[in-house]
Parts: sequence; C-alpha cells; structure tokens
Amino acid sequence: MNKTVLIIGASRGLGLGLAKQFSSEGWQVIATVRTPQQADALSQIPRVSVETLDMNDAASVDALARRLEGTQLDVLFVNAGVAGPQGKPANLATETEVGHLFYTNAVAPLRLAERLLPLVNTKQGVVVFMSSILGSVETGPGMGMSLYGASKAALNHMTRTFVAELGETGVTVLSMHPGWVKTDMGGEQAPLEVETSARGMVEQVTKALGTGGHRYLDYQGDLLPW
Ligand code: NDP
Repeated sequence: MNKTVLIIGASRGLGLGLAKQFSSEGWQVIATVRTPQQADALSQIPRVSVETLDMNDAASVDALARRLEGTQLDVLFVNAGVAGPQGKPANLATETEVGHLFYTNAVAPLRLAERLLPLVNTKQGVVVFMSSILGSVETGPGMGMSLYGASKAALNHMTRTFVAELGETGVTVLSMHPGWVKTDMGGEQAPLEVETSARGMVEQVTKALGTGGHRYLDYQGDLLPW
C-alpha cells in the first residue's frame, strides 16, 4: 500500500523538493502552503494534494488537524523555517525579530507536531523536524548565523522533550540537517542542489520507518554531535 507523508512548508525550496522526491518514489503527498496562490508548482506533481496552513497560527493548525482526521500519516515532515534577521548579530536584532525567529523555528514546529501526532502511524511512523548543523551546540557556534543556530538548538532541545513524552511507541523521530542547499534561504553559493538533498533525506526517512528512537543526522545519514 502507498505510504503517506505530510510536508509542512512546501511552497518552495526544500519542502517543494521533498514533495517532488516523495511523489517520484510513489508516496501520497499532502503538502502545505500558506496561501492558495502558492499551490501552482505542487499541483503539477502526481499524487500531491495541497492544504493551506500557517504553522505559527494555532487555529490554522487545528483546522488542518480536523480536515485530516481519519488520514494515517507514515511521515510527518516539519520543514518550514525562517532565517531570521540575516546578518544582524544578537545585540542588534529587535525583540520582535528574535521572537518571530524562535517562535517559528522552535516553538511552532513542536506545537504542530503535538497537535498532529494522533494522525501518525504509531507502529512505524516517522516525525522529522528540519534542524540544521548550525543548531549543534558542539559545532554550530562560530559558523555564523548565531541567532538562527540558537533557534535550531532550541528546536533540538524541545524535540528531546517531545521524544521523552512520546513514551513507549513505535514512532521514530529525526532531527534532520539537509546539507547547505541552494534555496532562497541557503543562497546561490550553497554547494548542494535541492534534488540531491531531497533524494538523500527521503532515503534516510524511508530507512528510519519502524526503527524507533531519536537521531540527529544529515541527508547522507551521518550522525551529528548534539
Ligand atoms: P526557504 O526559505 O526556501 O523556504 C522556507 C519554507 O518555509 C517556505 O515554504 C515557507 O513558506 C515556509 N514557512 C516559513 N514560515 C512558515 C510558517 N509560519 N508557516 C508555514 N510555512 C512557513 O528555506 P529552505 O527550503 O532552504 O529551508 C527549509 C528548512 O530547511 C528550514 O527549516 C531551514 O531552516 C532548513 N535548513 C535549510 C538549509 C539550507 O541550506 N537551505 C540548511 C539547514 C537547514 P512561504 O513560501 O509562504 O514563505
């Protein structure tokens, strides 16, 4: 039977690339965009259905959960994220900018995952949070983008709590680093194409089905230091 993945934040970049890759491997894909006008590229892909969602809006998350009631997800892939106040060191960023960055990258993904968890296959489902190597407390500092890295470290930290609260279940949790990828966020100088990263991530997610536990890894399957 076909497997089903829900990808949060698939209007462009890695989310759109993941939708194409999962689809090309025969998966049913539910992909979210913030506004219906962003659905064009996704609508061209076979086996993809599009839902509207703003991850930061609890009412929007709740409405999606209710629309998807009865759907069983093999994979929930929480990809959406923001770069934050680019180029600004922590002491120059405003309270609003920092709040938006940490809410979007750390708090909203976990709230969404908690709300949608009842839809995830409890025997062998996978929940993926899109992290970054910059979120590694061991290796991230000094690599630049310190506020962004800290927001992904916060995501990793909150994910560990989420895993602890999951208790005995067959659900696997992955904190994924996609590599440095050419997207609006990654920029033109990034070495990796979206297709390469997406292919690698889909391979890692597929391998993880039914394995259990929580791992921080990259698109090639290499484990990363927390
Ligand atoms: P992009 O900026 O190209 O895309 C970001 C995606 O997130 C868009 O689809 C955007 O939607 C969506 N999004 C942002 N905020 C929200 C929200 N509140 N609700 C719903 N969707 C939202 O980034 P990438 O594709 O490069 O990045 C994807 C993920 O990978 C992010 O979490 C990023 O931090 C992470 N990452 C990326 C790396 C890279 O090199 N590119 C490296 C490491 C990690 P919209 O179009 O509406 O703005």
